[in-house]
This record gives sequence, structure tokens and C-alpha cells, in this order.
Amino acid sequence: MPYKVLVIPGDGIGPEVVEAAMYVVNAAAAKFGVELEVKTAEAGDAALRKYGVAMPPETLKLADAADVIFKGPIGESAYDVTSLIRMRYTLYANIRPVKDLPGVPAVKPIDCVFVRENVEDVYVGAEYKVGDVAIALKVITGQGTRRVARVARRYAEARKRRVTIVHKANVLRVVDGFFRDVALEELRGLEVDQMYVDAAAMELVRNPSRFDVVLTTNQYGDILTDLAAQVAGGIGLAPSGNIGDNKAMFEPVHGAAFDIAGKGVANPIATILSAAMMFEWLGRRDAAEAIRAAVEKSIEAGYKTPDIGGKYSTKEVGKYIASIL
Ligand code: ATP
Ligand code: MG
Repeated sequence: MPYKVLVIPGDGIGPEVVEAAMYVVNAAAAKFGVELEVKTAEAGDAALRKYGVAMPPETLKLADAADVIFKGPIGESAYDVTSLIRMRYTLYANIRPVKDLPGVPAVKPIDCVFVRENVEDVYVGAEYKVGDVAIALKVITGQGTRRVARVARRYAEARKRRVTIVHKANVLRVVDGFFRDVALEELRGLEVDQMYVDAAAMELVRNPSRFDVVLTTNQYGDILTDLAAQVAGGIGLAPSGNIGDNKAMFEPVHGAAFDIAGKGVANPIATILSAAMMFEWLGRRDAAEAIRAAVEKSIEAGYKTPDIGGKYSTKEVGKYIASIL
């Protein structure tokens, strides 16, 4: 049975980086004999203009039927597409590996994996305005914390067995304190430490190589992973996976970047490394490792987009990496 993959190119630079990544996906699938049934569907700002909804029912139907979603960035309607997919399929763990690559100038060496809770926290969308007061609810559940902590445990066991729990329990004593306590319980037996989110931001710049696996809540993870991506050499290189129990979605960390859309200069590596994560999730570590090796080779060979000091186009980089495979 082939794996059902739904491709959503998205907005801005999305169609360009996804096209480049699909050269690589197809080359890896062919080389390693991974059967994929690929369908493509629209969602995002362009879909909203065309159909009046950012997530058209036809796309939703295809997403329901898919094993895995491979998605480009979404512009203004990210909440109606990306958040909807995360919530609808309970993709409760957002995995963001951050690693500097040889040949790309990084702020400092870094090699860690962020495991960010993905469906709770202040991003549940429970916001209210009552007269002169605006309120947003921060929701942390025991179940939600346990399941994401179990994912952090799996990653830690495959790495250096070290987890840093990032929270702000000195101020948010009840909610963040609960997250910390449940996570500590779930991570027993590993080497675990804790850091307040403000200190973690500082440490990520001061001494990033101290981190192995970082487990944190939704909003702190959102902010810290942009920072960490920049430490590693730029947002154009940062992949991510949204993992649930039965379905997953893979996408670059960066946004639609309308300022450079249509120019052929967007870096496709974040999306290509997201494809590697997809193969790994499908149980095909061989294809995933081959894609990562091909990315490193292409950088070594000088096939770089302008954001990392090269002169090649999105398409050229994608085709070159596919040709290595
Ligand atoms: P969002 O609102 O979702 O954050 P954004 O359009 O602000 O989306 P970001 O991902 O935050 O986009 O990117 C910030 C800037 O970094 C972009 O405007 C662009 O100049 C640059 N950038 C982002 N992604 C890439 C990429 N893949 N290649 C090259 N430059 C990029
Ligand atoms: Mg942005």
C-alpha cells in the first residue's frame, strides 16, 4: 500500500520551495523504493481569495484521507490552515531539530531538538474582550503534557538522554508549574534540567551547545525556535514536523516571506529537510539520511541560495540535491 501524501504548496515562497522539495521527494522515493501516492491541494490566502475560504472543503477531504501532509508556509490565513490542521488531527508535538550545517555561517555551533507542545497553551484561541479588559486563557492539561513529554523522551533516548524543560513556573506557578511537574514525572530516568524561558533565550545565544532535547510549551517554543534557527544560520534552513498518534504534517519553520516571493531566491533547504523528517516518520530512515547527506553535499559544492551567501536559485538547488540522490 502506498503512503498517501497530501501536498499543500501554500502562499508566498511556498509554491517555489515545495516544488524544489518535490524534486528531492520524488528522487528519494524512486531510489529507496518508497511508494507514495501524492495529491496536491490548495489552501491559504490564495484559496481564500479564490473560493472565499482558506481551507476549502475539497482540501480538507484530501487531508482527512492522507497519511501525511507536506505543506509550504501559509500567509495571513495561517491560523485557518496550519492551526486548523494541528488541532483537527491532534498533532500534539512539534519537532524542530536545530543544527548548523557545514558551509553555512552560524552564530555558534548548535545541535538540539525542540519538542514543542502544539495544541494547548495560550494558542487554544480562548480570547475574550470584556469592556476595558482583554483576556486570553492559557490551557495546560496533564494528558497534553504527558503525551508531548513522551515524544521528548523518545528523542532523548535516541540522542544524549538529556532533556531541558523550559517554562516560567516562578511566575505562572499553577499552569507552568503543572507542566513542569507532569513533564518531570514522565521523563524520570533521563538526565533532566529546567530553565526559565527568559534564561533559555539568553543561553541559546550564549552557550547553545549545552542543549540536547528541549521540551517546552506552545508559545515559548514558537518564539525560542525562531531564535534557535537564526543561531544555526538562518530561518531558511529550519525544518519541522507536527506529529500526532496517527497522522503528521511536515513544513518549514519559516513563513510565506512575501518580500522575496516569485523571485526564485528562497532557500528550499528548510522544506527539503522537512521532507527528510517525513521519510523518517514513515519509517524510512535510509531515505531521510540520504536526503540530509545530499543537502550537505550540495552546500559543500557551493549550491547555495543568496540568504546563505550563494548565487543559485531555489529551483537549481532543489534539482542539484535531487541529482545527488
Ligand atoms: P510569518 O508571518 O509567518 O512569520 P513572514 O513572511 O514574516 O511569515 P518569516 O518566515 O518570518 O516570514 O521570514 C522573515 C524573513 O526571512 C522573510 O521576510 C524573508 O526575507 C526571510 N526568509 C524566510 N524564509 C526564507 C527562505 N526560505 N529563504 C530565504 N529567506 C527567507
Ligand atoms: Mg515572521
